[in-house]
Amino acid sequence: MQKKYVPLVVFLAALLVFAAHLGARAVLSSPTFALAEEKRIYLTFDDGPSTVVTARILDTLQEENVKATFFIVSARVHGREETLRRIVREGHTVGIHSATHVYSQIYASDEALLADVAECADCIRRVTGVTPRVYRFPGGGSAARERQTRLLSDRGLKVVRWNAVCGDEEIRNADAETLVRESIRTAGKKNTVVLLLHDSAPHAATAEALPAIIAHFRAAGYVFCAY
Ligand SMILES: [Zn+2]
Repeated sequence: MQKKYVPLVVFLAALLVFAAHLGARAVLSSPTFALAEEKRIYLTFDDGPSTVVTARILDTLQEENVKATFFIVSARVHGREETLRRIVREGHTVGIHSATHVYSQIYASDEALLADVAECADCIRRVTGVTPRVYRFPGGGSAARERQTRLLSDRGLKVVRWNAVCGDEEIRNADAETLVRESIRTAGKKNTVVLLLHDSAPHAATAEALPAIIAHFRAAGYVFCAY
């Protein structure tokens, strides 16, 4: 190569490197790429509100700036109206779980299920002023779950299931460390995790485990979402 062309070649090579860099950045920031890569976790708390455990969980969520979803049992609201209002005030989602959580009553018929749902929804509306839009079947639902899911969808409710558990109901007397481990194990490599936890009165270990659960999924690159 003639000496006079060297600066030109260097300039062209630099241009090429710069263009490749821009191209890579464009791909990385494109919506398709972001969608494929984004990892999300929904923390969902069933069976509350309770006085102590729900309050501790709300404290942690506030400290960590994480939003969650609470599927409540309206029979447990009396005397804890302020806790329910706090959930809403702090930006979390309140969903319908049940009025009674008594399976034999809830799943006696479609009419019984709809009455149970309506009673819980009325309580949420009366206490918080919010109309709930999400629902979770107590115990995961009955044999009629598919049909009842359509019934509830027709009434504008989104039925939310779960795909990971912390183990606070499945493992007897599990300590906080076990609950953290079980959350990680059952979440596996899923890109979207819907984690089932409980904030009812016996679940102090769940409240204790929550900071470490949040720390783990945050470090693993998950974004915390509520419904
Ligand atoms: Zn439940």
